[in-house]
Amino acid sequence: MYKVVIGLETHCELKTSTKCFCACKNQFGGEPNTQCCPVCVGMPGALPILNKTAVEYAIKAGLAVGCKINEYSVFERKNYFYPDLAKAYQISQLEYPLCVGGGVEIEVDGTKKFIRLDRIHLEEDAAKLVHSKTGPKVDYNRGGVPLIEIVSMPDLSSAEEAVAYLKKLRSTLLYLGVSDCKMQEGSLKCDVNVSVHKEGEPFGTRTEMKNLNSFSAIFRAIKSEAKRQQEELEKGNKIVQETRRWDDVLGKSFSMRTKEDAQDYRYFPDPDIIPIHVRPNYVESISKQLPKMAQERAQIYVNDFGLTEKDAVLLTDDKYISDYFEAILQDFNEPKFVCNWMLGEVFKKLNALEQEDTEILISPQNMAKLLKLYKSETIGQSVARKLLDELWGTDKNPEEVVKEQGLTQMSDTNQLEGIIKAIMDENPKAVQELKSGNNKTMAFFVGQAMKKTAGKANPKLVNEIVQKLIK
Ligand code: ADP
Ligand code: MG
Ligand code: ZN
Repeated sequence: MYKVVIGLETHCELKTSTKCFCACKNQFGGEPNTQCCPVCVGMPGALPILNKTAVEYAIKAGLAVGCKINEYSVFERKNYFYPDLAKAYQISQLEYPLCVGGGVEIEVDGTKKFIRLDRIHLEEDAAKLVHSKTGPKVDYNRGGVPLIEIVSMPDLSSAEEAVAYLKKLRSTLLYLGVSDCKMQEGSLKCDVNVSVHKEGEPFGTRTEMKNLNSFSAIFRAIKSEAKRQQEELEKGNKIVQETRRWDDVLGKSFSMRTKEDAQDYRYFPDPDIIPIHVRPNYVESISKQLPKMAQERAQIYVNDFGLTEKDAVLLTDDKYISDYFEAILQDFNEPKFVCNWMLGEVFKKLNALEQEDTEILISPQNMAKLLKLYKSETIGQSVARKLLDELWGTDKNPEEVVKEQGLTQMSDTNQLEGIIKAIMDENPKAVQELKSGNNKTMAFFVGQAMKKTAGKANPKLVNEIVQKLIK
């Protein structure tokens, strides 16, 4: 039996308003090369000035995962040539990173596990290479954007654990508000190190796959790489320490180059940037400003809203969902009702959409209106569900849609009685069954009534009327 060992190096762009070493805007999606200056395009003689907010954000992240914040920390030049790196070096940290140690707790299949962190360091992002018809082009807007690299110890032992770890990390960073962690936009991505070994033997040689930017890619890349390594070892071959490229479409990785070592980069302290001295009272003031994290919010949901612990955890896991939930409550203060709707219908919808980054495309205000209509039984459940689909991606007012399309729940007893009598006439067998005490047949009548009224019949009333009519 082989054991799999995984270590992740997670790169997370920080949401500062300006870049790490210059005053250029840090903003995704601008016209190419409009957010750059002599510093971030590496003009000779331009001098970097460290962004204090970037340091603050990195410290926040460190504190939230239990790191020790080093009082003394140094920026170094990581030298290599590539067109996305204007200076031919990246400003990073090696010997003296900002944060060390710490870890995150994950849970997979009900088992909790603590994943230790090696370090978190601050560095600048490289520019973006755009491959166009006329050849490669470089967009320097991203060059010099601050990012933190969070390096895990090789404590992860399955693809499931790696994804759980990354989800936990992402959730934490989103709660802190230091990054938007959009995997699709590349503000969160991972280098994945994988090795396999036989039980009782030392760790095997690892390979590294760089820049994976979706949970599913990470999951599949680990599975596939672990399998490949086992097969190689079974054939009697050795694993070469190398960097591999994961092709997400083909679902395969390819050898790119033998792995470079720290010494290949000729790191040395950047003479243009003085070492950072982080005073303990500065760290303390940051630690006092840390926002309420998932656990604290969940506690409030249990204590003040009367939700179950399980529901509270589900709602607070993702800050976006938790914020959205709380925004609905601003307009419609029915925590349990809203919770059921979120965990049921909204989660179902989000799962079906399979997006990497959670986004509910209905404003919380409109969702509150929809839920008011539903709770007051103006509309029934199936119409409420239908509205969720119909309003998605629009800013239509649910009250108006209900009016325009006449979706109000049918609660007119006379009208419903007529419809139900007709159903009964068409289905004498079902009537007999119900009369003989087969209560399951009731669902059939409710279903038929829904069908005939385009989902508008009030199911409670249908039930009552059917009961009355068979007497
Ligand atoms: P480098 O600087 O060469 O990338 P590091 O020592 O910083 O190497 O480790 C990078 C990542 O590789 C870390 O996340 C670490 O946990 C992981 N790692 C180290 N050894 C192994 C191994 N044998 N198998 C899998 N992952 C490993
Ligand atoms: Mg590394
Ligand atoms: Zn700049």
